[in-house]
Amino acid sequence: MRADPIQRAIDEDLVRVLYAQDPIAFFSHWFSIAVLVAIYWPRIPSPPLFVACFGFYAAANCGGLALWILNQRYPQFFSPRDWIYLHALRGVLLYSAPGLAVWFAFQVPQSDLPLLHTVLLVTLAAGVFMSNGFDLLNFSTAIPFLLFPSIVLHFGSHTFDRTILAIVLAFFFCAINVYAMSYRKLFRQVVQARVDQQYLAESLAAQKHVAEEASMAKTRFFAAASHDLRQPLHAIGLLAASLDDSTATPAQHAKTAEHIVYNVEALNQLFNQVLDLARLESGVTQVIRLHFRLSELFERVGSQYRPQAAAKGLALRIAPTTMVVHDDPVLLERVLSNLLSNAVRYTEEGAIWLGFRRAGRHTGGFIEVRDSGIGIPADEHERIFEEFYQVANPQRDARQGHGLGLPTVKRLVGMLGGELQLRSAPGRGSVFRFPVQAGDAGGIVASLNQAVAGGPSAQGRRVLCIDDEPSILEGLASLLGRWGCDVLGARDEAEALAALTSGFVPDAVLCDYQLAHHRTGAQALTAVRGVLARAGHENVVTLLITGDMASAELAALALQGIPVLHKPVTPARLRRTLEMLWQQAELDRGRALATTALREGEAGGEADVARDAAGDAAGSSRSAPGGSQTRSGSEPQK
Ligand code: ADP
Repeated sequence: MRADPIQRAIDEDLVRVLYAQDPIAFFSHWFSIAVLVAIYWPRIPSPPLFVACFGFYAAANCGGLALWILNQRYPQFFSPRDWIYLHALRGVLLYSAPGLAVWFAFQVPQSDLPLLHTVLLVTLAAGVFMSNGFDLLNFSTAIPFLLFPSIVLHFGSHTFDRTILAIVLAFFFCAINVYAMSYRKLFRQVVQARVDQQYLAESLAAQKHVAEEASMAKTRFFAAASHDLRQPLHAIGLLAASLDDSTATPAQHAKTAEHIVYNVEALNQLFNQVLDLARLESGVTQVIRLHFRLSELFERVGSQYRPQAAAKGLALRIAPTTMVVHDDPVLLERVLSNLLSNAVRYTEEGAIWLGFRRAGRHTGGFIEVRDSGIGIPADEHERIFEEFYQVANPQRDARQGHGLGLPTVKRLVGMLGGELQLRSAPGRGSVFRFPVQAGDAGGIVASLNQAVAGGPSAQGRRVLCIDDEPSILEGLASLLGRWGCDVLGARDEAEALAALTSGFVPDAVLCDYQLAHHRTGAQALTAVRGVLARAGHENVVTLLITGDMASAELAALALQGIPVLHKPVTPARLRRTLEMLWQQAELDRGRALATTALREGEAGGEADVARDAAGDAAGSSRSAPGGSQTRSGSEPQK
């Protein structure tokens, strides 16, 4: 993976080093031309050939300088590799002239000329080694031209001295090749170390930048959060103090109390929003996909926001759809609630439109929330998804929201596997949309509205509640009692197990996560399930309730699909979760019965009875929705 950047870095360094030597080489070659002309001057063999050869040498030298100037002026003109090829070509042209010119020395019957010329060639070869040795191409194209003709001609002379000289030259040729090889290896290591260091520095700088950004975002988050939390607290403090005022009339006291309640509600809402976001961040929220009719969900959220829209003189239009989707209705409802609440808040006239569009998709489509409101400038399209960011609320007036809705929506849509898209411009309204997967009408277990309103399924159910806090046990007993449940409270695991052995077989076990004596709800539930399973009661619904958010164990439970509810748990949320879990349990029971009966039927041909039993238990014999019926979400809040 790293080979390419390193090769490129090596090439870039090579170009720098190769070309850096060229001005010196230019003067050295003039010196070499002058020396060669001087030693041949007294007896120039074949003058026209000699002139042509040295003319070519001089021209190649000037060409080399021109290439250097081009490289200095326009380094981007060629890629580093191409600059290396051009330099190698320059080497071939430049070194072939003096290398081949040694032939002239052997044309003159004067014994010291070949030696003198060879000394000059060895000097040039040493220069090539120094300046081009770290590049195989430049080195191996220049050196043979310089030395081979000389080696061959010395060998061909058949005299002892020349043969020795040829051997020495050949040895020299081999030696500089070996040295150049280690030279190149060293060069590569140096460049690699430099590139590694550069990578390290860059990645450290990037990490530092990310850490700084995160720290700044955190600071902004806390500054905004503490401001927004302080405001209602401050107001509550002042209002509470004014309750002491004995001169105030009962009507004034009542008004003050009303303001206190309003501020407490605002505080509660903000807490819920912050906790919601933190819960989404901590990864304990579970996605439970069901097959359901989108129109039912649209109707539910529509009925919540229609009065608000009507109060502002806005029409809330819901496009009719027969679409069945496979998604998490609770999380989806939170998304739509946030988007619709914004649409109502930021629209002064016109209409709000909620609908489903195929938009070219075969296996699903997009849910769209559209409004004809104030719109959002393009340069704010990213920032509005930051926590506590609001486009136009510099005084942070709590009545205009807190800037937590869209960050929550973005995370929720991400959890559901989609991406939130926004189209908006000032004065031209806004469109928020996100994808949903098509579902299977055959997989619908129950109507959404039925699940929320609660069918008769809570009536007569036996519920075991485990909590070390007596007030919570009391609260649960009273709530579940109102739903018609038969409730038994246990302060710890031991009391719960004792209740089971005394014959109480629950339909659901609700358990707090943090129990006394360093026991967790997960451990207590395992023990309870064990006892129930041994007694043949496999399908008992269990539900953990916790105030923790970042515990690794909770995250693990969420991954395993163990149902977890996060405090504060509203009655509606508890009811809805229990109903869903019971429905699922009944469906599982029905399917298990059907399977057993089918097996028996294969042997005895009596499967029909069991299939009927399954149908009775599940309300149908269709397949169950995917995933277990677990929930750690919360209700839509805005
Ligand atoms: P809040 O609505 O509580 O301020 P959000 O996170 O939901 O917080 O929205 C952030 C900002 O995005 C809002 O302050 C508002 O400026 C802008 N915004 C959101 N939805 C719309 C909309 N439908 N039309 C215009 N502006 C919007």
